[in-house]
Parts: sequence; structure tokens; C-alpha cells
Amino acid sequence: MTDKKISFYDLTFEDLQNYLTSNGLNPVASSILFTHYYKFKKIDPCTHHNLSPKIKKYLFENFSFHLPRVKTFFESDDKTVKFLLELSDGEQIETVIIPFQNKYTICLSSQVGCRMNCSFCFTGTQGLKRHLKTSEIIGQFIVAWNWLNDFRPNEEQIKNIVFMGQGEPLHNFDAVKKACQIFLDQHGTSIGIQKITISTAGYLPGLQRWNNEMPGVNLALSLHSADSNKRRELIPIDKKYPLEEVLAYIKTIPLARKQYVIFEYLMIDNFNDSTEDANAVANIVGNLHPIVNIIPFNPFPGSKYQRPTMDKILAFQQELMNFKIPAIVRGTKGDSILAACGQLNSEKTF
Ligand code: SAH
Repeated sequence: MTDKKISFYDLTFEDLQNYLTSNGLNPVASSILFTHYYKFKKIDPCTHHNLSPKIKKYLFENFSFHLPRVKTFFESDDKTVKFLLELSDGEQIETVIIPFQNKYTICLSSQVGCRMNCSFCFTGTQGLKRHLKTSEIIGQFIVAWNWLNDFRPNEEQIKNIVFMGQGEPLHNFDAVKKACQIFLDQHGTSIGIQKITISTAGYLPGLQRWNNEMPGVNLALSLHSADSNKRRELIPIDKKYPLEEVLAYIKTIPLARKQYVIFEYLMIDNFNDSTEDANAVANIVGNLHPIVNIIPFNPFPGSKYQRPTMDKILAFQQELMNFKIPAIVRGTKGDSILAACGQLNSEKTF
């Protein structure tokens, strides 16, 4: 029965080796399987491997290769694609691929819904339904890669992974960590460690584990305001894990040379877009090797905030640059299909 089987996509290379060894099988098959499923991203059942019949039988009997189903997808003019994926229990998540210089960045979801309940975020209005399994995180990548292979042949290069879809990745630490280990594995997709970014609302227990267990993976902190009262209004988790504590902790994290901490700054009209707001940001992040990623607020049905004018956004960016803080205004790719940051909500957009 399928549900008794272990998902192949839940296993790290070492897990797979251990399964094989403990069943008296040759662990070298791990390399063949990782190459087949992750390097070449095949989704056919495991009949064509150069493997012994004994190993094939073991694989068929013990592992499932089930992937999320693409329920529907939307393409925007800028070539961003949003997928609505259905999981084996019928829950739905969204995954977005964003083109960037002939390559793609994939924006992965880590949970069905989210518990952080940020006041500006469409996903947050769903609440947390459940954590995703590693196989469901990996599945998003494989499904998107295969879609590209089918619909945009010769473009199937997903080079960057960002955990900026639905959910708080550090609140589902174990599954996200294992997915990163699989993405990084040299026998498979072999994604570079600096090509993976985990974005957090400031969930401190997860951040502490990230520092200890996933060194090298990029960190993005959703800052959104340097002012406690304003930040709390936007990100309720700040009441439990105040920004000062989170920043004090980030300060202790040794960064690899050239590694930056990305501070995401959601800009809301007449709320956090003044020169004083920019000065306050410069003050608190200045010595943390920052890049500030300014994200103009993306509206969604029923949202109470507005996006500032481009003049205000550029003035804010300039103010940060006056302090020699690198600041980028993030494009609003995927806007037209509700695939931009914070517009993902698998219950209400379809
Ligand atoms: N939970 C994680 C990752 C998911 S959201 C986090 O909080 O970082 C990824 C980014 O999109 C975050 O910076 C988030 O604050 C931002 N975001 C959420 N809703 C948004 C909206 N409506 N407009 C613009 N950015 C938004």
C-alpha cells in the first residue's frame, strides 16, 4: 500500500545508503538513484536504472515516488509562473518560479498556511494548517523543473532557491533542513550553498537552530520596521521574540566572507516609508553586513495597506545608500497573477 511506503523524496543521501545497507543491499545504488531522480530529475518509476533486480524489487516495495499534482498554473507576462499544487491529502500549496537572467529562482512554500499571522500577508489569513514534509518541499522543485522541461525546453535551469513562499520555514525546521541537505547533495541537484536563502519573520528558536545546523545557507530577516511598535503591528511574533533580541543574536552569527544578511523591508504607504524610518533602519542594521531588500507592498483582496509611490520608494532607498547600506528595490514580478511576495493564498486566489 502506498501510504505504508517511505517517500523517496524524504531521504537524504545518507538515509538512503543506510536503508540499503541495513537491508543487505549495495549502498552504491544511492549514487545511481540520486543522479537519476535529482540530477536528471526523472519522474518515471524506477525501471530503467542500471540496478540489480533485487534492488529494484526493494525500491518498488518500500518507496513511493509520489509528487504533488499540478492542479493549475498561471503565467504572467514577465514569465513568472505560479503553480497551485495538490498534496496527497488534498491540501494545496503554491510555488512560484521567477526568471532572472535566463535562469530561474524558485520560491518554495514550507507550510500549508502560516502561524505568524502578519497583518500584511495574504497567506497569514489562512492560519497554519500543517507543516510540509521534506518530500513535499522537494516535490515542488521537481514538479516545477519538469514543467519547465515540458513547456519551456532548454530553459529548465533553476539555480536559486528561496524559502519565501507560504509558511515560516524556521517554524518547520527539520523538514526544511533535510530538504536543504538534499538540494545541496553533490550526487543530485548540487545547488550551491549560497544559492539557498531562508526567510524568517524572526522566529528565534528556529534561527538558533539554523545557525548551529545550517551554516552557510543565506538568511533573510523580514524587518519591515526598526520601530518596535510598528513592527509588532505588522509581525505579531515580535512580541514574543523582539527585534532587539533577534538582531543581537544575528550579530553573533559568523558570516562567511562576502556573505550578507538580507533584510527584507516591506514598504507601506504612510506607515514605514519616511526618511526617519530609513534612518532608524540604517542605525540598527548598519554593522550587520546588510543588504536591504525593499519590497513595495503587494496588495491582495481585502488588504488594508497601500503601496507607496515609486518616488517615495526611491527616496527611501537613496537614504539608506547615503549610509552606504546596499539597498535594492525588489521588482514586483508576478503581480498580475497574485504570485508576488505575500500574495500567495492557496484557498482564495483560485
Ligand atoms: N515567513 C517568512 C517567509 C515568507 S514571506 C518571512 O516572514 O520572512 C516572504 C517575504 O514576503 C517576507 O519578507 C514577507 O514579509 C513578504 N511579504 C508578505 N506579504 C507581503 C505583501 N503583501 N507584500 C509584499 N511583501 C510581502
